[in-house]
Amino acid sequence: MNSVRQRALAALDSREPVQFKGREGKISDYFACNVFTLDKMEKYLSKDVFRKVKAAIEGGTRIDRSIADQVAEAMKIWAIERGATHYTHWFQPLNELTAEKHDAFLEPDMNGGSFESFSGSLLVQQEPDASSFPSGGLRNTFEARGYSAWDPSSPAFIMDKTLCIPSIFISYNGEALDFKTPLLRSMAAVDKAAVEVCSLFTKDVTRVVPNLGWEQEYFLVDEALYASRPDLMQTGRTLMGHTAAKDQQLDDHYWGAIPERVMRFMEEFEEEAYKLGVPIKTRHNEAAPNQFECAPKYEEVNIAVDHNLLLMSVMRKIAPKHHLKVLFHEKPFAGVNGSGKHCNWSLATDTGVNLMAPGKNPKSNIRFLAFFVCVLKAAADYGSLIMASVASQGNSHRLGGNEAPPAVLSVFTGATMDAMLGSIEKSMSDKMTPESKSAIKLHIGKIPEIMFDNTDRNRTSPFAFTGNRFEFRAPGSSSNCAMPMIVLNTAVAQTLEQFKAAVDKLEAKGEKKDVATLKVIRKFIIESKKARFEGNGYSPEWLKEAAKRGLKAHTVAAEAFKEYLTDESVKLFTTHKVLNRAELEARYEIKTETLLKKIQIESRVIVDMASNHIIPTAIKYQNLLIDNVRGIKEIFPDKVDEYAAKELETLAKIAALTNKINESAVAMTDIRRRLNKIESIPERALKYEQEVSPNMISLRKSIDDLEMIVDDDFWPLVKYREILAAL
Ligand code: ADP
Ligand code: MG
Repeated sequence: MNSVRQRALAALDSREPVQFKGREGKISDYFACNVFTLDKMEKYLSKDVFRKVKAAIEGGTRIDRSIADQVAEAMKIWAIERGATHYTHWFQPLNELTAEKHDAFLEPDMNGGSFESFSGSLLVQQEPDASSFPSGGLRNTFEARGYSAWDPSSPAFIMDKTLCIPSIFISYNGEALDFKTPLLRSMAAVDKAAVEVCSLFTKDVTRVVPNLGWEQEYFLVDEALYASRPDLMQTGRTLMGHTAAKDQQLDDHYWGAIPERVMRFMEEFEEEAYKLGVPIKTRHNEAAPNQFECAPKYEEVNIAVDHNLLLMSVMRKIAPKHHLKVLFHEKPFAGVNGSGKHCNWSLATDTGVNLMAPGKNPKSNIRFLAFFVCVLKAAADYGSLIMASVASQGNSHRLGGNEAPPAVLSVFTGATMDAMLGSIEKSMSDKMTPESKSAIKLHIGKIPEIMFDNTDRNRTSPFAFTGNRFEFRAPGSSSNCAMPMIVLNTAVAQTLEQFKAAVDKLEAKGEKKDVATLKVIRKFIIESKKARFEGNGYSPEWLKEAAKRGLKAHTVAAEAFKEYLTDESVKLFTTHKVLNRAELEARYEIKTETLLKKIQIESRVIVDMASNHIIPTAIKYQNLLIDNVRGIKEIFPDKVDEYAAKELETLAKIAALTNKINESAVAMTDIRRRLNKIESIPERALKYEQEVSPNMISLRKSIDDLEMIVDDDFWPLVKYREILAAL
């Protein structure tokens, strides 16, 4: 037999191992060599222009045209020196991928010759015909224009001979059609609010930036095996496949020795990443077979998001060189862990202080606490919106699956902070004596001592304080993590503003500033209590408890997306000028439509596979058994029941399962036909999630049961044990 599966498996043995000889020398010698960093700008620009550009980048101010012309010229010279032939605005449309449309530097002259050209106006703004990007109604088809505009705060880079200019992407009316625009706005919002709160303590802070350190999980599978699975190819995940007898039970993969072949792949993509200035630090095997993780050193959130997307592109590009396919899907394989993209988030000042880390003296510790409780309150007030920001069709297979945090937001603070918050709540009252004030300050002053090397880890919490940052563990591995960062920045901007206003109010009533600050800290501790949970987030008891506390669990993505449009959310985003109502509606529309389409595609693929691969296989095997039973009958006419007992039993099972598969497949088409009559896309998406998805699960169950019965030689699809073991 020469099935797709067997050919794929045979391909594994017929290939020479891929060689990759890494670059000689230290990484620091070539790090960011393909990035137009400030260093390079300085070299290619006049002193005066460089100073102005640098100030504009650091201060987030506009760069005027004459300067843009000079920057464009400098960029062009540098890029051409490094072999670039084309340039592109590189942006992040709402399909969660990156977009680029290359243009050559080349310009023909009038005499049959040519030259290379790139102007400031091309650098600053371009007008891609963007009618095929999702716009959620922000653009009418007759006004298909979208504009991409240079984001000077993220440096340009060269990829494959193309100068890529990180850009925002907006409509004719200036509405954001991308992730970067609202991300930059949310950074401005949290900057403004955080600087105000800092001013309660010292006057030297003029800028606060959110930092992000992401951890990217992914699977690797052999490309030949991948190509033999229509489900993986078309949906990014397996829609069927019986779990292997052994997968991750023995915990023998996590942090194990990295397989040779994977190591070569990692070395090559890391080398590319280093050239692009992505500061990868960590690599390791993850819990599931074939699952891995990499993480860079944290960076300013806008750059970190760009770098994450860039790295994902690089990984996709390098993998085939090693006959591998990289899977960023949140749940490519049932029964083993899915993949996330943990987002480590903190706020840092331009004076070099991490506001999410305890300080060196009582004063800086009170500042730390002020910021800390504002994050807690943001989690308590906007928890369901924060969870909604990571909801997706892929992620809903992962969240709450006993491997990833539940779909309800709670904060783990750790024993030290928990005790500290508890004691502030108890020991302080509205009337404070000078003695009690000093006692509290002394107490707060001790945080760093107790916390030193004492940050406990709770892996079951979606949002955990880990000593100097918060780790948000719910984002999905395939998503653009800008969305959760936008929500977090904005929610924290809101609570920081409330914090400052509350302190100001008490001060206006005659309270001393430090007492007012402590009182508001206590108020926020009390108000955010419902979101704090130190226990096991995977336990069913917690979900009950969370429901009692009024915390919403978003297990249905179509329901989660509604959070974008609640009164509180609209108020939050509009107050801080991050997203207006139309922009929120557009996102809601795109999210629900994507969800709907993804389920639709999956349900089509699974039915195709059931009809074209699985049922024919079952019939072939059935016929073999029938022939066998016939033969037995010929030789032992009276003993069929006894001698062919096993075959008869199997035949009955196959018949029952094939019937079930048929029924589910027919039902699938019926359900879809019925649901497609629903006009409203969000309504239809919800119904698809509630009716089509469960039907896919029952269809899969019958197929997986069948896989256990049918002769291995007959089975047409590469099995879990093969695809998750071949590296
Ligand atoms: P773990 O798996 O133990 O959570 P990793 O080393 O895989 O940790 O990833 C931790 C991530 O957190 C890294 O990207 C790291 O740079 C980042 N990080 C460390 N300190 C901060 C901070 N102050 N703010 C934001 N991110 C941080
Ligand atoms: Mg990690």
